[in-house]
Amino acid sequence: MSNGRGIATTTESQRAASLATSGDAETPRASRTSPPAHVASAPVAKRASAYPSAVDRLIAELAKLPGIGRRSAERLAFYLLKSDEATAMALAKAVEDVKRTVRHCGVCWSLCDGALCGICADPTRQREIVLVVEQPKDLLALEQTGMYKGLYHVLMGRLSPLEGIGADVLTIASLLERVADSSKNPGGVPIKEVVLGLNPTLEGDGTALHLGEALRGKRVAVTRLARGLPSGSQLEYANKAVLADAIVGRRRVEQSEDV
Ligand code: ZN
Repeated sequence: MSNGRGIATTTESQRAASLATSGDAETPRASRTSPPAHVASAPVAKRASAYPSAVDRLIAELAKLPGIGRRSAERLAFYLLKSDEATAMALAKAVEDVKRTVRHCGVCWSLCDGALCGICADPTRQREIVLVVEQPKDLLALEQTGMYKGLYHVLMGRLSPLEGIGADVLTIASLLERVADSSKNPGGVPIKEVVLGLNPTLEGDGTALHLGEALRGKRVAVTRLARGLPSGSQLEYANKAVLADAIVGRRRVEQSEDV
C-alpha cells in the first residue's frame, strides 16, 4: 500500500516535469496509471489566467512603471482592488488629467498647464539669467531652495551617444534661439548669463561642454553650478572626485576689513 503510493507520487512528479518540458513516449503510460490529470497539471495551466482579465491588465500596466516589478505591481493592484471606489477613481482621474492638461512651457520646456509656466510668467523673476537643467524635477529641487530668482531652461535629458540621444533630441536649439533672439525670452529681456546646472556625471559634463561650445561668442556669460563637498558631510568620507572638485572650486574666505 505504502509502496504503491510512493510509486504514484514519483510518476506524478515525473509526469509534471515532462509536461513542463515536452511530451515523450513514456508520458501516456504514466498518465494512465496515475490519478486524473487536473491534480498535477493544474498549477502549470492556471498561472496564465489566475486573475480576471481586468486585474491582469491592471498588473501589466502597473508593471510598466519605472522601478515597479511584477510583485510590486500585484501589490498595488490588490491595494486598488481593496480600496473604496472613490480612492481608485481619484487615481484614474489624476492620471487622465495629467495627460490631458499638462504640457511643456512654450519658453523653458518645464511642465505647466497653460502656454507659459508660472516662473516664465512671473515678472519679478530675473529674466536675464537662465539656469539650464536636465529634467523638470531638477528645476523643482532648485526652486525648493528659494535661492534662485532667475529663469530656467529644461533640456529634457542629456547628451548620451551610447543611448543615441543627440543634440536634436534635446531642447538645445530652443535655448540657443532664446539667447540669440530676446523676443523668445519672457518680457523680451536679453539673456546675459546662462548657468549650466547639469548633473555632475560623465554625460552631464559632456552636455555642459557641448553647450559651452555652442554658446561661445554669443555675448552671454556661461557659468556652472559649484560642485564639491556637500554641506553637513565629512572630508574623510568624501570620494576622490568630490574632493578634487572641492579643491578646484575653492573660494576666498570673506574677512572683515579691520582684521
Ligand atoms: Zn517656463
